[in-house]
Amino acid sequence: MGINNRPLSQAAYERACQVIPGGVNSPVRALRSVGTTPIIVDNAQGAYFTDIDGNKFIDFCMSWGVFILGHRNPEVTTAAIQAVLKGSSFGIPTEAETILAEKVRQAFPSMERLRFVNSGTEATMSAIRVARGYTGRDILVKFEGNYHGHADHLLVAAGSGVANISNASSAGVPADFVKHTVVLPYNDTQALRDYFDKNGDKVAALILEPVACNMGVVNPDEDFLKATREVTAQHGAVLIFDEVITGFRLAFGGAQQRFGIKPDMTTVGKIVGGGYPAAAFGGKAEIMKCLAPDGPVYQAGTLSGNPVAMAAGIATLNILDNPQIYADLERRSDNFIARLQKIIDGKGIQLNRCGTMFTLFFNDLPVRNFQDTKRSDQERFARYFRNMLSRGIYVSPSQFEGNFISVCHTDEVLEKVLRAVEESI
Ligand SMILES: *Cc1c(COP(=O)(O)O)cnc(C)c1O
Repeated sequence: MGINNRPLSQAAYERACQVIPGGVNSPVRALRSVGTTPIIVDNAQGAYFTDIDGNKFIDFCMSWGVFILGHRNPEVTTAAIQAVLKGSSFGIPTEAETILAEKVRQAFPSMERLRFVNSGTEATMSAIRVARGYTGRDILVKFEGNYHGHADHLLVAAGSGVANISNASSAGVPADFVKHTVVLPYNDTQALRDYFDKNGDKVAALILEPVACNMGVVNPDEDFLKATREVTAQHGAVLIFDEVITGFRLAFGGAQQRFGIKPDMTTVGKIVGGGYPAAAFGGKAEIMKCLAPDGPVYQAGTLSGNPVAMAAGIATLNILDNPQIYADLERRSDNFIARLQKIIDGKGIQLNRCGTMFTLFFNDLPVRNFQDTKRSDQERFARYFRNMLSRGIYVSPSQFEGNFISVCHTDEVLEKVLRAVEESI
């Protein structure tokens, strides 16, 4: 098939490798774990992207969930262009920052005050610093398999057992930098309660993906999610929902709206910048007032609140502020997932899903935490990825990622995907 023939992508990749480590600016893009080489993209529209060889693919990765409205939404694109024409950065406040902040707060009432940064990494890093400044405590608790960006103290391995102070999972992170990071197993309510019973009064913050999406999609048990709120409230620790991926996706107000739980702080990213570099962290006014210039916690950014990203974010949220959009997305996803389930039944595959996000795990058993995800057959996943690719469908290129349905994934597009899955597995 022509689509397997990508001579221009191959040449561009080899050239990139001479100047960029691994030829990519973010490791998963190299497609190594799925046994192939990068596709070099030229342009994208709606649910599709086209590579520089002229092959057109259905995109199920959607820039890791950024494009819930599809690629190159006309209103968002126009808003960004208009902003560019007025100047692309000032280092001086614009009204757009306040307008987008108000819109974010409308969706996430728990974010009484919020600040914009350029990436999800910066958002979680800053939120944790504020939480530590506010509580005067050092310990950060996170869950195995949850991803919160690549700040040193968050790159922590699956700890061996409950409440172990873990080692860094990346080279280049001194053990000292992660000695205040504690890792607990996801969905283990008892382990969470036990840890907080003993150490809760020393914990600055508990951070989690309320629906995990960076170990593949893993849903939280209801009692587990409730327990995160209870134990933090009991012990005066700050509860941070990292909604960088779930924000504006699982509902306009993210997982906290969907599950009816109010965290103390929240991070959003991906969708909020409408495809441009923007993310935000925020929470209770009392906590956020610790930030400079009001308080002693320093945080800053040359391009923070960038006017082009703000304009694209405003245009995006204005469209998404419409319950009908989420109802339609949910219904279309329900349909698709039900049919997908039928196709994979009896084939040793687990389908995890929350709203418009889903992952196929190549293993027979339910997947509830990081250890479970590791039982998935990586070789089989890689073959599935390549089979889908040769049929013109780009699924998220790792077992530990989600796939994302956008408003542009019409029934017709999804029909093509189902046929491809049937053939590919
Ligand atoms: C993507 C992601 C991040 C990191 O965001 P970047 O913009 O890549 O730095 C953090 N947390 C979660 C839950 C994410 O999905």
